[in-house]
Amino acid sequence: MPVPGLPPYDDTNVFARILRGEIPSKRIYEDEWAVAFHDIAPQAPVHVLVIPRGKYCSFADFSASASAEEIVGFTRAVGRIARELGLEAAGYRVIANMGQHSGQEVPHYHVHILAGRPLGRMLVRV
Ligand code: AMP
Repeated sequence: MPVPGLPPYDDTNVFARILRGEIPSKRIYEDEWAVAFHDIAPQAPVHVLVIPRGKYCSFADFSASASAEEIVGFTRAVGRIARELGLEAAGYRVIANMGQHSGQEVPHYHVHILAGRPLGRMLVRV
């Protein structure tokens, strides 16, 4: 469901096409709520993207419009993926970009799981 003032969901976005199996991805996990695959341009030794199966443009859309079941199912999937990848001992970072200032490129809600080395400060000073 679109957030007022923001564009509606675009069914042609790359993650929608990955969900439909129209373009390949290196899938590592899927369940009723979420699909996870390796980022095509990794920024850390582990860089996994987790996306909900539902059509949500962004965190703003997902947090406002998804059902409680979807939010719980998706959030538990993110935690489970990180655990199953063995990331808890050394730690990891979860990032969701939303909108222009964040640099969000793909308009299907997703979180990045980054790990595998010390990740430094959360934001690079520009
Ligand atoms: P964001 O800037 O938060 O929207 O992140 C989008 C991410 O999707 C970037 O890290 C891209 O490298 C990644 N990406 C784009 N196309 C693909 C693809 N076909 N398969 C996997 N990752 C992709």
